[in-house]
Amino acid sequence: MSLLPHRRYRGRFAPSPTGALHFGSLVTAVASYLDARAAGGDWLVRIEDLDRSREVAGARDAILTTLERHGLLWDERPIVQSTRTQHHARWLDRLATHTYACACSRRDLDPSTGRYPGTCRGGLPEGAQARAIRVRVPAGTVAVDDRIQGRVAQDVQATVGDFVIRRADGPVAYQFAAVIDDAETGITDVVRGADLLESTPRQSVLQQLLGIERPRYAHVPLAVDEAGRKLSKQSQSMPIDDTRPSASLEAALHFLGQTVPADLRGARPAELLAWATGHWRIDAVPRASRLRAPAHEADGPSVNR
Ligand code: GLU
Repeated sequence: MSLLPHRRYRGRFAPSPTGALHFGSLVTAVASYLDARAAGGDWLVRIEDLDRSREVAGARDAILTTLERHGLLWDERPIVQSTRTQHHARWLDRLATHTYACACSRRDLDPSTGRYPGTCRGGLPEGAQARAIRVRVPAGTVAVDDRIQGRVAQDVQATVGDFVIRRADGPVAYQFAAVIDDAETGITDVVRGADLLESTPRQSVLQQLLGIERPRYAHVPLAVDEAGRKLSKQSQSMPIDDTRPSASLEAALHFLGQTVPADLRGARPAELLAWATGHWRIDAVPRASRLRAPAHEADGPSVNR
């Protein structure tokens, strides 16, 4: 499937409203913003709120406020994924010849690999209740050239097996919704956290089956804690302090391998971002997960600490 160099750049930041933004998600937002702006493109925000059980009240507004305070101003109205269920349903119908109902639960996955062995591929067992819809994954390796991580290749059938695209409780799965929403909003470039690198071959399978052109991908390194765990909204990582946006932006740029000149230290967010857009170098972004860059941690006490 061809890439989309012939189309005007459109990027997106797609936070789940499961908590306030933390340093790792700010890094992702900054990278996708800069990559879009440096290409003269649009930058959209999509709130991924399909999993209602994980949603935290107020998180959506808090995320948008944090982006605004950091000068990360999006184009168009934010897309709220839960309002797009009719679009998802229509694309689910289009995929019907490649899907099947499944009665299995997590217990039916291969315990050592987590692969789904295809138990319901040939039809539901007598009297069994359908719990989910799975896509029939074709055999063969899918390769994606990531702009930061290099080539990622996976035989999705051999590794993951037929995967769930609609869950038992109703909404479509993340993999499916992301592919459909990216396609319908004309996204040419996906810049997101490296934890989603392993999802990319699955999304690529869906794009192939649906005849959707594959966007370009760039997976930015994860910010991890001392134990090597990804900072995440659920793990109660420190939320970004909206009252010190310049310090957080400088730390995010530093983490992304973009060296802010000394005379810009402490500059307003708009100035920092203007500089960073003009000097954006994706080839300077490191590949590997790292601790949050310490450079600006020692900046001295802030009134809010
Ligand atoms: N909603 C996902 C997250 O917050 C990001 C999905 C994506 O960028 O494709 O990790």
